[in-house]
Amino acid sequence: MSTSIPMNGDVMEHWLLSGKSARISGLDLKPLAHPAMPSTPRRVVKGQAAVYFMQQSPHQNTWLIKKFTPSRRPSDTYLQAVSRCIPGQAEFFTCTQRRFLTAGHLDRRYSQYVSDGLPDWIEGTILMPAVPGSSWATIADSLREGELELSCEQRLRAALNLAVCIECLEAWECSHRDISLNNVFWAPDDRVYLIDLDSLYHKDLPFQSNTTVGTLGYIPPFTRSLDGQFDAACSWCPHADRFALAVMIAEFLLVGPDAPEAQEDGSLFSQAQLAQPEDDFVKSQVDALWRINRESGILLWKALHAAGFESCPAPVHWRAVLQRALGSNRRHACSSVVRNMPDGVSQVVCEHCGRPWRISQPRLESLRSKGSPILCGDCLQNQMLTWKAEQSQHERDHPLTQCAECHSAIRLHKDKLARLQSAGKSPLCRTCLEQKPSLRNSFCPRTIHY
Ligand SMILES: [Zn+2]
Ligand SMILES: [Zn+2]
Repeated sequence: MSTSIPMNGDVMEHWLLSGKSARISGLDLKPLAHPAMPSTPRRVVKGQAAVYFMQQSPHQNTWLIKKFTPSRRPSDTYLQAVSRCIPGQAEFFTCTQRRFLTAGHLDRRYSQYVSDGLPDWIEGTILMPAVPGSSWATIADSLREGELELSCEQRLRAALNLAVCIECLEAWECSHRDISLNNVFWAPDDRVYLIDLDSLYHKDLPFQSNTTVGTLGYIPPFTRSLDGQFDAACSWCPHADRFALAVMIAEFLLVGPDAPEAQEDGSLFSQAQLAQPEDDFVKSQVDALWRINRESGILLWKALHAAGFESCPAPVHWRAVLQRALGSNRRHACSSVVRNMPDGVSQVVCEHCGRPWRISQPRLESLRSKGSPILCGDCLQNQMLTWKAEQSQHERDHPLTQCAECHSAIRLHKDKLARLQSAGKSPLCRTCLEQKPSLRNSFCPRTIHY
């Protein structure tokens, strides 16, 4: 049954309080509450967008709905193209598996929650799966507080995985352009996932002037325009992640309970320090890295003294250095390295069980646009059974009957039908009902199903 929302009411708040799921893109989703405020939807508001946290039932996977600030929304063509330009590895699955929602992705028939405001609200939003693990911002905080310990080997492995992610992006002629503490996630198996790819550079995409130049603490000092201001156009180029990659790897290897206090929003270096590589503090960190691993110390020094992206160490250099540091133990060096997929094939993550599997790109494209869940073979089989059972249940609850005016076949909920009959009224299809406003008060048109 549909419920109306007060004119100034908040669609997400209303939905949260209902406690019910709506079926969007074949997934049963409901908003998650703010951990400290049970009647407020959990969301993160960044410059470009508000991101709402959703829970998928019954699998308990977390999803995100991104609603752009209208003035900061890149063009539709750009957003669609981004998902097609990035490499088809699971490390980018939050972007390769995202859906551009329209009101048509909302399946009212199988939604427990239905409201008048929701179809308009979801139009133009982006639905994306949450990645496993925690952001580097969260992990770095816990490491500084001494609540979390990571071995040198784990750190080297995650650093290696990050270098390989960037190598992969470069191989596909992409730059993320905002590699920073909130956009890099570290999973329990030391795999690294990248999020927020909506500032992506690719040679075939037009420059997006409303995208970010980066995050303080990670922006190369050489991306200023002639007037001394940071300029997004300066990082709209190949290899634009190399400087931030060096800083992130240094953080992965250095941050712990003895690390110096965080700068900016949690970074190792302040933006001002990055402009002065001969600063005592910066030198002390290069030395500290050098003591952990000499070659990494040298690569960081090179990045900090670089005059442009081309003179920063390439990800392939980092990969070689980190693989050597992990030693001759091939098990560690190779177990989690991103591998290039064959042409036309993407690695995806099952949206029920979380298992990675492979899919052809045309099939992925069709599932995404149709709004079907992306499921591994086993989960798809189970889902088909559930859908079949749901459909028969729906048909039992909504028996076929005939419109009294045009005689077309319609389905009407059995309780509604019984009420109409006992009141001596006849069922009407939606079209006939809309043509006869005088009859509208007799029953609610939304309960008629075709
Ligand atoms: Zn599965
Ligand atoms: Zn009719």
